[in-house]
Amino acid sequence: MSMVRIEKLRRALADTGVPSALFQHPVDVSYLTGFTGSTAALVVTAERAVFITDGRYEEQAARECGHLERVIARTSDGYPGRIRDMVQELGIATLGVEGDTMSVNGFASLRKALSEVGGGVELKPLPNVVLGLRRIKDDEEIRRIRAACALADRAFEQFLTLLRPGKTEKQVAAELEFWAKVQGAEKEAFDTIVASGVRSALPHGRASEKPLAAGEFVTLDFGVRLDGYHSDLTRTVFLGEPTDRHREVYQAVLDAQATAVGAIRAGVSGKAVDAAARELLAARGLGDAFKHGLGHGLGLMVHDHPALSPREELTLQAGMVLTVEPGVYLEGWGGVRIEDDVVVTESGCEVLTHAPKELIALPFEA
Ligand code: ZN
Ligand code: ZN
Repeated sequence: MSMVRIEKLRRALADTGVPSALFQHPVDVSYLTGFTGSTAALVVTAERAVFITDGRYEEQAARECGHLERVIARTSDGYPGRIRDMVQELGIATLGVEGDTMSVNGFASLRKALSEVGGGVELKPLPNVVLGLRRIKDDEEIRRIRAACALADRAFEQFLTLLRPGKTEKQVAAELEFWAKVQGAEKEAFDTIVASGVRSALPHGRASEKPLAAGEFVTLDFGVRLDGYHSDLTRTVFLGEPTDRHREVYQAVLDAQATAVGAIRAGVSGKAVDAAARELLAARGLGDAFKHGLGHGLGLMVHDHPALSPREELTLQAGMVLTVEPGVYLEGWGGVRIEDDVVVTESGCEVLTHAPKELIALPFEA
């Protein structure tokens, strides 16, 4: 890992008027330093960047953060003690902290430790500057997301072979997760959703004990983490022979998804992209059945900023990676959701997930 991201961070910090800051949120620390352990701190000033971890991670930090100045927290006074030492050594009078993610207790113990610094140190909660940087992916991040998406695509093929009479949603989810790990996934990106029949009308229907049955939709929402980065893919298939109504609802969601993907490019507002899908579904009489935002950012976290929603003020920028996932949910009947991951470009977007989207109807006899 190079210092490029820390240089970008320094420019962002300079814009906030607080050039020295402390970072402890594991995702942000990982983004800035390449460290993959769960506990560390990073103190950044205009001139220096000091990485602090504890004895458990000394060896790992040497391997992953060899490019950074490193210190180890003492067992006696832990991170607050070491952060105090560094703040003193660096002569910091105002220290920015992560206003959105630092805990109240973490803030209190840091303030107590810093009260021992002669002259005093002011703690200043900052807007999430690292999140702002993380929204735009660099080539290496896109390479990793692309690989995570490719594994999700293959998982969908595998999923189709797992749908057998007598199995429950949970068994299918467990078999799919096992398969993905054997293929190299670090873990599933979130609790796998396998929602069949009337349960497919639940946007977040985690896999249950319900057995699969003929004459029903099954929605799979699945993703993996690979090299720290996530994929997030949803497909809905039909078990047995769909009715005209099933085909009609499916086609509406498919058309809404294609319309939204077609509306994406740098400079367009997120609200306009969301509206494109929403208006198409409304024109088919399904406007009220689309019960959530169109999508979300994706990267080191699976549900990341920014949101593609009617509420979010957002102008799309090249390098943002977003999900596009309209859905229709009809209580007591069933539902359909189709989700792809895309990277925004100047002229449009590139779709990173390639699992088939035409309605798949699987022969299904008990
Ligand atoms: Zn999803
Ligand atoms: Zn999603």
